[in-house]
Order: sequence, then structure tokens, then C-alpha cells
Amino acid sequence: MNGPAPAPWSALLEGLPHAAWLVDLASQQVVAANAAAGDMLGCTPVQLVGQSALVLAASPEDLAFWDACAAGERGALLSDTVVTTADGRQVHASRSIRFVGEAHALVLLRDRSSEERTERERESLLSELQATLESTADGILVTDLFGRIRAFNRRFAQIWGLPAELMHQRDDEAVHRWLADHAADRADYQPRLDTLNQAPLLHASDRLRLRSGQILERVTRPLYSDGQASGRVWSFRDLTERIAADERIEALTFSDALTGLPNRRRLASRFADAAAAARSSGKPFALLVIDLDHFRQINDSLGHDIGDRVLLDVGQRMQGCLREPDLLARMGGDQFAALLCPADALAAEASARRLLNVVAQPCNVEGAQFTLTCSIGMALFPSHGNCIDDLVRHAESAMRKVKQGGRANFSLHQARAEGDRRSHMRLDHAMRQALVSNRFRLHYQPQVRMTDNIIVGAEALLRWRDPELGEVAPARFIPVAEDSGFIVAIGDWVLSQAVRQAALWHQRGYQMPMAVNVSALQFQQSQFIDRVANVLAVSGLPPHLLELELTESILVHDAADALQRLGALSQLGVKLSIDDFGTGYSSLAYLKRFPIHKLKIDRSFISGLPLDDSDVGIVRAILQMAQALGMRVIAEGVETEDQRRFLLEAGCSEFQGFLFSPGVDSLSFEQLLGPPVAPAALLSSEASTRRHQRRIRLVRS
Ligand code: C2E
Ligand code: MG
Ligand code: MG
Repeated sequence: MNGPAPAPWSALLEGLPHAAWLVDLASQQVVAANAAAGDMLGCTPVQLVGQSALVLAASPEDLAFWDACAAGERGALLSDTVVTTADGRQVHASRSIRFVGEAHALVLLRDRSSEERTERERESLLSELQATLESTADGILVTDLFGRIRAFNRRFAQIWGLPAELMHQRDDEAVHRWLADHAADRADYQPRLDTLNQAPLLHASDRLRLRSGQILERVTRPLYSDGQASGRVWSFRDLTERIAADERIEALTFSDALTGLPNRRRLASRFADAAAAARSSGKPFALLVIDLDHFRQINDSLGHDIGDRVLLDVGQRMQGCLREPDLLARMGGDQFAALLCPADALAAEASARRLLNVVAQPCNVEGAQFTLTCSIGMALFPSHGNCIDDLVRHAESAMRKVKQGGRANFSLHQARAEGDRRSHMRLDHAMRQALVSNRFRLHYQPQVRMTDNIIVGAEALLRWRDPELGEVAPARFIPVAEDSGFIVAIGDWVLSQAVRQAALWHQRGYQMPMAVNVSALQFQQSQFIDRVANVLAVSGLPPHLLELELTESILVHDAADALQRLGALSQLGVKLSIDDFGTGYSSLAYLKRFPIHKLKIDRSFISGLPLDDSDVGIVRAILQMAQALGMRVIAEGVETEDQRRFLLEAGCSEFQGFLFSPGVDSLSFEQLLGPPVAPAALLSSEASTRRHQRRIRLVRS
């Protein structure tokens, strides 16, 4: 039968929730359709009637079904298909075909367009996610709340070295066992993991070290589903190369390329740590600036390659003599710095002595043999400054003072108050005025023969009366002049004045040497020897009547240079003595190398005589050793008869001190001298008595 469907069918079709039409089996044409079918296909139900069932749904499955149907088969069909609308659109639908009676089939279609869209979107989302997962450099593992593995990417397997079989087995237990087995610290791995797993909402990150040496950063976040934590996402990032690169960069940034020692930057960062530690412990620490003396000469004479080797060698030696927490850095060139923490002034001094000592060990580089020395300036945290810049500045200026004082020594920064700085500047200015205004004058202190109190020499001592400041003691202004370098000009004036006076006395028949104090800075001037020779030549004073009083530091700093200069002075015929002997760094054995004629025992050792055991010991030792070396000895600062008697008995031949006379002007000195005595008569007892009486008179007046 081919015609419109009976009315009950239409009513039935309208009652169905989805698109539906009835197909006449014989003609395979639609005989009735509901309104929903019209809506789906974009036409009226009436327009559908008479259409071929094959035209409406023409998938291969549909075609095969209707063919089978024509052949008499009656199997139902239930699957998804695509139907074509009146305007040519394709609609995804879930379609079922059932036989209704002998002559009809009922086609039911449920529109799946929106489901289909959602599914496509989900699929593309999933593939995007998978691509994202695979494209990240991190290894990703997704687990549920029970640790069951939900997903992972290839990078995860790669980072952990998981074998492919293990991943394919999908044996979660075996994977977790593999991870635990490959952690370097297995005992720590599991408890940490358990802690993370016990807190499903926790965001955390930590570092794992694997047995392979790799270092992983592990980040974990909760995974939510429907607002509930449903598992965890773990990401693993391999930091091994980055850490190695960071370490390389750090090594380059914080160390000195030549010596491998820490550099300024590292020093600054360690300084910050040390400052924090010092603030909490209340213990000070010290910063030492160590500068090699005359290092340029090594570079100039032996070449830069050897210079570099020497820096390396000296750096190693210095590091070897520091304590474990101390830091030695190279500041650049031939300058090093040591951070000693904790350390007070005494501890810093002990380290400075050790450093001086190791640096002074003989060097032997590629057959070249030489000895280096260094100058060390020290500053303390917090008393000398709160920041590294201040401490370095103070330590450097203390180091420069050591250089000016003859090198090869150490010095602690002397904190100077603001007021002090101002008076320092005022004094310096006033001194410069004094020199041009001729306000300096010289006093002369007799040097006396112990056995008979005969004046055998004079020491020129500088005196200065300022119109505003009054009489200023040398102990106050000489250090300021040394600091500013003005001592060179003053020393020059003293030398010419004293030599002129000595020449005058010599012309009058006195055979008495004049001792002149020479500051280290003055001694180091390149023209100093010429200057001495010139002054002698102009005055006509026989060179042996000039005695230069040098400080020990001059000898220690650069032995070769000092030896050469002292040799030249000695060649001129000038006498050389070491002032304030015993307070410096040199030993008597060391002095043997130099053309030194006389030692002046510092008055700090004389003051305790004859009762202080250590002064007694030191003075006796100096006298014995000087005798063995053939040097004369004079004691300075002798104030009492007891001191004089002790020194005489101990074998000291001369003295200088208030006991006989302080420094006096030239006229008073001439009175002390009396008329010149023929050299032979100097030995007579009558002359001796005369001088003794004169001394008594002077002390009384
Ligand atoms: P110095 O060269 O060791 O000179 C000896 C100092 O001791 C002098 O002090 C002298 O007056 C003092 N003195 C002498 N006998 C006694 C004594 O019995 N008891 C005591 N308590 N002191 C005594 P002065 O003149 O104040 O000089 C101090 C320092 O100043 C000198 O020490 C020297 O280092 C320096 N000085 C003085 N004149 C010159 C100079 O022309 N050039 C240089 N570069 N330094 C000088
Ligand atoms: Mg002196
Ligand atoms: Mg002295």
C-alpha cells in the first residue's frame, strides 16, 4: 500500500518526544512524519511525506539497512547517523528503525548536534591538553587521591629513566617503587611523599636528588573535580644543568680568575653575613687589607707570567695560614683582603703576624729566587665602621700608613673623631705656615759617654712654637706631617739646619757627630741620598760627623732597596743608627746584613731599669748581641742615676737623657760643651771631672 498513513499513526507520531516518521516498506517512502521531524529537517511534516527513506538518511549503514529490508530481512537498526536537511545541512542524530506491523517501519531520530559539538570540543581540548603536556619541559604525573596513576607525559618517564615496559604495564605500584628506588635519599623520600599525600589541598615544592646525581624540582598541586580535591598533579623539573651552570656563573662572578680566590663581590657578601653574625653575637670581626710591597718590580724584572705565578703562590700561602671560617679574597692587582670572624684587635694582630711571616718566606719561581713582604692595614667591625666600604677604606688607609712607615708591617686603623680630623687639618696647615715663616727651630740633646759623662754627640730635635697653638710637641705634629707627606719638606729643613750647625761646631774644633732623625717617607725619596751628599758638600761637614737615625721599619720593608740605599749612604761616609730599637719588627741577626753602626735602645725599655725583669732581659740581650755584631749601643731616655749605673755595668757605652740634659738650643748646648778639647785630652780624667761639674751645674739651674 502506498498512501498517507492512517490517522491513528499521525496522532501516535505527534506523541513521540523526538523526530519520527513512518516508512512504507514496499515503496520505502515516508507515509507520515511528526512536527519534530519537520523541525529537524527544515520543512513541514507534509513535505516529508512521499520522500524516499534513503534520501533522508543516506549513510552506508542506512543504505545497507534498506537494501536488506527490500530483500525481506527484518532486523532493527539502532546507531548514530547523519541526516540532510532541506537546505543541505547535515544533522547528527541517534537513529532507530523498528518494524511496525508487516508493512511499515518507524524511524526515530534524536538530534545529537549539541552532544556532537560538546564531544568534538572535548576531544580537541583533550588533544590540546595532551600536546601541552608533551610540549612542556617538565615531567608531569597525575595521580588520584590514592596515588593511582591517571596520566603522565613522556618527559616524566624520561627524567626518571622509567623503562617503557614499566609504563606500558600500567603497574602503579612498580612505578612508585621505581621512583623511590631512584631517589638518592630513600629514607627521606617516602616520609616526604606521605606528608604531601596526607594533605590533599597542599601546594608544595621541594627538591629531590636522584641517585644518578640529577637534581629535580618537584612541584605538586591538588587536582580538583567538581570543586573537590580528586588527586594531585606532580611536575618534575630537571635542575641539574641549571644548577651546574649557576654554579659555574657563581664561581666566575665570585672568584678571581687568576688565583681562584674569592673576589671583592664574594668578600662583600661574606661581609654581610659576618656583620649579621657579629650583631647577634656581639663579637667583633676584622678586615685586613694586604698589599704586597714593590710587587711591580717583580713584574718589571721577571715578567708578568712569573708575576702571576707569584700572586698565585702568595695567595695560597696566605690562605694556608688563616683559620677555617676566615676568608681570603683578592681585591685586584697585588692587593688581597682577609675577613677574620670573629676577631678582636689582638686576634687580628696575631693573624697579621702570621701573614707577614708566610709572605716573607723565600720565593722560588722558575729559578728566580727572591723575598716578598707585604703591608697590612686592619679595621674592626663595628668600632671602625658598619659597612664594607668604610672598613675597606680604613684598612687601606692604615695599610698606606704602613707603606709610608717603611712597609713590611701591619697597623690597626685609629678611629679619629671628627674633632680630631679638624685639628689634624689645622695642624697640617699651621705647620706649612711655620716652615715658610721660619718658626721651626732645633734643639740639641747631648749624647754622653757613660764612663766619664763626656758629650760625644748631639741629636737634633725639632721644636715648634706656633703663635696660636703655643709650643707643639714633635710627638703631636710629626705623625701629622708623616700622614700628609709634609715630613719630607720638614725633614729637609732639619737636615740642612742640623748639618749647618754641626759644620759650625766642627769649624770651632768640636769633633762631635750630629744625629738627625729621618722619617721613613723621607728616606724613601729618590733624591734623598743626593740631598744628603749635597748638604754635606755645601756645609763642608766631614760625612762621618753626620749620623742618620732611621727607624727599623725602613729595613724590613724592602730589604734589597734599603740595603742599596744604606750602602750608598755608608759609601758617602755617613753613620747610620737605628732609633727606638726594640719596638719594631727586625731582629739583630737581620740587622747584620745592613751597614748599621749604632743602635739606640728605645726609652720604653730603659724606664723599667733596673727593677723590671723583662726590661733588664731585653736590654742585656740587645747589648750582648750588638757587641757580637760589632755595633755601638746608646740608651735613650736615661733619667735616673740607677738607670745609668745599670747600663754602665751591663756594658752600654753611651746614653742620652734628662739625667744629663734635655734637648737645648744651640747656645745652651755650647755652654754644656765648654771650650773645645783636643781629642787626646778627651780621655784625661781632668776633662772628665770638668764636664761632670758642668752637668751638675746644669741640672741645678
Ligand atoms: P726620638 O728621635 O726618639 O727622640 C728622643 C725623644 O726623647 C725626644 O723627644 C727627647 O726630648 C726625648 N727624651 C730625651 N731624653 C729623655 C728622657 O730622659 N726622658 C724622656 N721622657 N724623654 C726624653 P721629642 O723631642 O719630643 O721628639 C719626639 C720624637 O719626635 C723623636 O723621638 C723623633 O721620633 C721625632 N722627632 C723629633 N725631631 C725630629 C726631626 O727632626 N725629624 C723627624 N723625622 N722626627 C723628629
Ligand atoms: Mg731620635
Ligand atoms: Mg728614640
